[in-house]
Amino acid sequence: MNVLMCPICAQRLQREDKRWYCDNQHSYDVAKQGYVNLHVVQHKHSKTPGDTVLSVEARRAFLQGGFYQALQQAVVQRLRDLKLDYVLDIGCGEGYYTSAMQAEVKHCIGVDIAKNAVQVAAKLNPQVTWLVGTGAVLPVMDQSIDLCSSLFSPIPKQEILRVLKPKGYLLVVTPAEQHLYAIREALFDQVNPHQPEKFLLQLQEEFDLIEQTVVDSTLHLEQAQLKNLIAMTPYAYKAKAEKRELLQQRESLEVMASFQIYLFQKK
Ligand SMILES: [Zn+2]
Repeated sequence: MNVLMCPICAQRLQREDKRWYCDNQHSYDVAKQGYVNLHVVQHKHSKTPGDTVLSVEARRAFLQGGFYQALQQAVVQRLRDLKLDYVLDIGCGEGYYTSAMQAEVKHCIGVDIAKNAVQVAAKLNPQVTWLVGTGAVLPVMDQSIDLCSSLFSPIPKQEILRVLKPKGYLLVVTPAEQHLYAIREALFDQVNPHQPEKFLLQLQEEFDLIEQTVVDSTLHLEQAQLKNLIAMTPYAYKAKAEKRELLQQRESLEVMASFQIYLFQKK
């Protein structure tokens, strides 16, 4: 596995014991948890970018409950059908999807800007190459990747085009129109439907859309799980505190999760 790229000079990285290094003597230690930090200071905008510790913990607790398993399995099935060598999961977070994807491909790389999330992910599955890095400079070589995935994460289009092999794939998962409607209705005076199709417009020049699927799951949430779900979504800090408090006092809630999966191929 040597498709990793030095984020400083763009040379190929080599592995030696507990570090990765390039020909220009830039060196990156493998952390004791097993990930490597390729997020160099030149590309940093804040001290602790990405997710907060609380949102990472809430998401891990919620996902461990299996509520998004239908989505995880739908993504895994797509990868199984495609028979891929190199997959790069952009915005891998604490690795719930990435770890499951790994079993279906030869080499799986997960990258996220949030170090605290990658630390959690690295413990989950040592078979994945876990990286702290940024979408601004994806730390892999040109045309080295068969499929890039972005689940609820940004889509750094130019970098994805650079790292994908010719005819490589891009898998995007984003909330479908009605995703968590009951929760958003409780939190906001006005609920705007999610607009997954905005990704189609953004990508149509460089990519062909070859498949689209919606995965729905009805979630029966007890109070603790409801709180975790609220804490892991962007709704948490956008909602008014009193509305959020009222929703969190609910003993239980039934809500539909609805995900849009798009599979694109580079033209
Ligand atoms: Zn270098």
